[in-house]
Order: sequence, then structure tokens, then C-alpha cells
Amino acid sequence: MTENINIIEAKNLVFKYDGGEDILPEKMPAAVDGVSLDIKRGSFTALIGHNGSGKSTLAKLLSGIYMPLSGSVKIYRSGSETPLDSSDESVNFDIRKTVGMVFQNPDNQLVATLVEDDVAFAPENLGLEPAEIRKRVDEALKTVGLTEYACHDTHKLSGGQKQRVAIAGVLAMHPECMIFDESTAMLDPKGREDIMKTILGLKKSGITVVLITHYMEEASLADELFVINEGKLLAKGTPVEVFSKRELLKNAGLEAPQASNLVNELKKRGIDIDVSGVIDTDSAVRAIEAAFEKSGIRPQTRPDTPKGAQNA
Ligand code: ADP
Ligand code: MG
Repeated sequence: MTENINIIEAKNLVFKYDGGEDILPEKMPAAVDGVSLDIKRGSFTALIGHNGSGKSTLAKLLSGIYMPLSGSVKIYRSGSETPLDSSDESVNFDIRKTVGMVFQNPDNQLVATLVEDDVAFAPENLGLEPAEIRKRVDEALKTVGLTEYACHDTHKLSGGQKQRVAIAGVLAMHPECMIFDESTAMLDPKGREDIMKTILGLKKSGITVVLITHYMEEASLADELFVINEGKLLAKGTPVEVFSKRELLKNAGLEAPQASNLVNELKKRGIDIDVSGVIDTDSAVRAIEAAFEKSGIRPQTRPDTPKGAQNA
């Protein structure tokens, strides 16, 4: 059996919200307006776009929470040749089990007082045996690093820990793909870092990850990047490809990562530096070092000198 390399294939998706009594449906602008995209199995994809560009709506279409007005979403499960088609309501529950979503506000996603009860909530609704539920809860808590917190009160956890409980709850459903809709946005830097580590760990374990974020540094970690603007897919490519389109990003109300801004600013000021491929601190440092080398300036400390070893 040849498995499809994509886990999600979306074609010409259109979605409109109900404008209520004030706006006739035909006058209502589409929140998602003809988007086609494929998500590769096992990949890490990031969706970026300014506020109101349609990212959350698109994510809800991809995960079966919303039905498109037109267009289609197909979900290819591993081991099955027939995709789940979002237009078929009888498979909606299977789609939701396969593509899980984690949202922005951890407080809105927790349902139980006890951490392990919260994680057990979704698998309980699947009607699984208690022993299987116990196994899934333990596994999920281990994956997010909260085993010791199983019997803690969810309300007393930090924002980052709450968000990891929410992730564990989705994991306990055994999804093949997880969509994170700005799941780091309400967290402090430490919480954000913990969630990003968890997300990267999930990807490593084979789960397909889709991350919606307005942190360009997070997006730069993705294999593929989609830029959404006014409900449409404006650009796609690797982070290096997308972040080099500085004009396009600006028009979409986005900024390239800080590291990329820095080297571009140096170049503007006349420094001979290769800015292509700079998306994060590491690649910026390499570009700046290369510029130094070219101009004959050698850094005094070797870049591989361990921290604290200079004075030894
Ligand atoms: P993003 O996640 O990129 O900020 P959204 O998908 O939330 O964008 O929103 C896309 C568009 O749909 C925006 O114009 C927004 O105002 C509108 N929208 C979002 N949710 C609703 C809703 N529940 N009812 C009506 N309009 C909505
Ligand atoms: Mg949103």
C-alpha cells in the first residue's frame, strides 16, 4: 500500500461567518477565501498572518470544527487508503480524533479540577476501557513532562503548565496531527519555551504539527511556512524562502524575524554581508562572522570556545 505523503489536503476552501440580521450572506466577506494547501505527514508547518487574516478559521476547517461553504478538506489517516472527507458528516468525529487542536487560552480548555481527570476527559468520551484510559493519561502526562502533577489542582498551575495539560488532553486522543492556534501567545517566556520544546518533541515522535503563531522566531523553526492574508494563501515555502520576501511580508502586516532585520540593516549601512538564509540567531552569527572574515577582521575568541572558558 502506498501511503499519501500528505496528511491534509485542502482545496479551494471558502468559509463565511453568519453576519446576523445586519449583513446579507452575499455581502458578508469570506473569512477564508479560496485556500488550497497540503500538509505533509510528519512535518512541522507554521501559519502566519496578521490579526483577522483568517488563520483560526482555516485551522477550524482543517480540523473538522467548521464545515466549508465550498471546497474540500481530505484527511489521510495512516494505514488507511481512503481519506476522511470533511463534507461527509458521518466521519466528522474521526476527523476530530485525527486532527486535534490546542487553543490560545489554557483556562478555556481545562474542564476538570484534577490534572489527570482533565486529561482523561476526552478518552472517556471515546468510550474506552478504564485501563486503556489510564494508560493514555499516563503516557500523555509523561510526554508533556507533567507526570508528577497528575494529582494536582489544574487551577493552581502556571499558564505554561495548564497549556501542557491541554496538550496532554488532546494527545490522549492519539491524534496524528495537532494544530496549535497561538498556544504560546498568553504565556511568559519560560512557558513559551516549554511549549515550544513540547511541540518539537511531538514532531520528533512522528506527530504532524501545525503551528499558528505571531512569533516569527517560532515560525522560523518550521519545515514549511504558509502566509495567510485577507483569507487567502499569500505565500508558502521554507522559512528561508518566505522570510527573504521582505516586501511581501510587510504588505501582509508582518515582520521578518529580528535576526533577519538586523543583518538587513547592516547591509543597508554598507556592510558587505550575505543576508540570504538568515532567519535566526545562529544563521545571523554565521553571516556576520563570514562578513568579518571577508573584511579580514578575525574575532578574538573562537566561536567554539565554551562559555566561561575565556578567562581560564
Ligand atoms: P486570525 O485567526 O488570523 O486572527 P480569524 O480566522 O479569527 O483570523 O478571523 C478571520 C475573519 O473572520 C476576521 O475578519 C474576523 O473578524 C472574522 N471572524 C472571526 N470569528 C468570527 C465570528 N465568530 N463571527 C463573525 N466573524 C468572525
Ligand atoms: Mg486567530
